[in-house]
Amino acid sequence: MPKEVIKKAIEKNFDYHESVDSEVWDTIQGGQQPKITLITCSDSRVSGHIFGKDMINHVFHIRNIGNQIENNFGSVDYGINHLHTPILLILGHTDCGAVKASQSDFSGESDEIKKELYPLYFNLRLVSKNTDMGSHADVTKLVQENVDLQVKDAIKRYTTEGQYVVGAIFDIHSQLGDKPGRVIITNINGETDIEELKEHPLLSDLESSMKSVVVNRV
Ligand SMILES: [Zn+2]
Repeated sequence: MPKEVIKKAIEKNFDYHESVDSEVWDTIQGGQQPKITLITCSDSRVSGHIFGKDMINHVFHIRNIGNQIENNFGSVDYGINHLHTPILLILGHTDCGAVKASQSDFSGESDEIKKELYPLYFNLRLVSKNTDMGSHADVTKLVQENVDLQVKDAIKRYTTEGQYVVGAIFDIHSQLGDKPGRVIITNINGETDIEELKEHPLLSDLESSMKSVVVNRV
């Protein structure tokens, strides 16, 4: 099994290499120029490719369980203060195992896992009462709350003019729209009112028909 896995990984990389325009490699040899600092959960269903297959050199991608900012401030600082990405996107996802685990008994986990779950536990414990962890709708409420709290922490730290902190949810289970796989914007710089979000200057170039789909909350 491990041999098959590594064989497939290397072969996929060969395929990927073939699929990319050779100019891309020339461009990125001079250094990276990402436009988005992206914090997502490590969940393998949340791929950077959800923003397109040509996102190489566009996304400075930081991952951990539960898309948390506080245990990765160093990496985020690098993306914002050194790479000057104007967008910090904090992207949760439906059915997040870390969010669910943080409100369950995780006493048997390793110290390292506990260390990463405790902040989620403390952040979400007051709103997780009566949550049915088997319900995608209930868990999505916690995921949204987690994204809101991560945005709140981020905007305390990253306050530069022209810097936006965007909260969103990768909707694998169609909890915020009628189709799975969409990135739904739930928060911009702490604003969570849906109508205000639709009118937000950051989204002014988006078609209103698209905004009505991609801006939502539970
Ligand atoms: Zn997750």
